[in-house]
Amino acid sequence: MKKNLYTILFIILISLTLTSCKKKDADLVASFYPHYDILKNISKDKLKVDLVVPFGCEVHDFTPTPKDIEMINKSKLFVYASDKIDVWVKDLINTNINYVNLSNEVTIEFSDDIGASIHFWTDTLVFVDMIDILKDEIIKIDPENADFYTENANNYKTEILALHDELVSFLNETTHEKVIYFAGHDALGGFSHRYNIEINSLIEHFSPEAEQTIRQIENIISALRETNTEYLFIEELTTPRVAETIRRELQKDNLDVTLLELHGYHNISLNEGKRGVTYADLLRQNIKHIKQAFN
Ligand SMILES: [Zn+2]
Repeated sequence: MKKNLYTILFIILISLTLTSCKKKDADLVASFYPHYDILKNISKDKLKVDLVVPFGCEVHDFTPTPKDIEMINKSKLFVYASDKIDVWVKDLINTNINYVNLSNEVTIEFSDDIGASIHFWTDTLVFVDMIDILKDEIIKIDPENADFYTENANNYKTEILALHDELVSFLNETTHEKVIYFAGHDALGGFSHRYNIEINSLIEHFSPEAEQTIRQIENIISALRETNTEYLFIEELTTPRVAETIRRELQKDNLDVTLLELHGYHNISLNEGKRGVTYADLLRQNIKHIKQAFN
């Protein structure tokens, strides 16, 4: 009997602890992954960082929930990419929100290319700029830890710039034609201009929702056939159905095409999120795949 009473008391105690355990409001909120990655890498565990578009979800076609909006309203800083990609933001922004619209802050060198200007974070050097911009914003919120944030930002910039240099020197040395066929939407313009790599996207549009016409698929098949290309690049987080079709079609001509991912950094999977995969990790993977294709 006494034992039962202890059990009941224990259960009550546990449930009290659980119900009183309220989730801490996020200090810094990013609309989606690339700027989330920066906020996280600069603030580490000093500030709570959250993102609106969850890991694994499509950023181009997103609608926030009332909970997301509450999270943004309660944050100390909200960072988004632009009105063009975060189309849901414009109804939300008011004077009570401390926000950064990154597209107004970064210098986009290749703005005449609409795909490149929307996906500005794919240009490694623009991403490095974003680190500085967001470091300054974080310091405004928490000036006491300025040295900590500055050091983290500098370390992250050093890591990214070392990868950038590695890719530049590889591309300077290789005699391989710098052409990529990409079974995805026109997302890597910034990356393409920065490294002088011609990226032929299957979907000549800046959003993955654009229709993949049979003609475009046929064009990429004949281009791969004519150029004897061994590698076809694919987008992140999508089932490469079209790419698989292209691969099978070329197999009929005894052409073996290998699919490689070229990450556009829009988002990472839930698993990658749990592992803490960074923009630097994704750039490292892109470099590895480009080296494989251009060797
Ligand atoms: Zn995109």
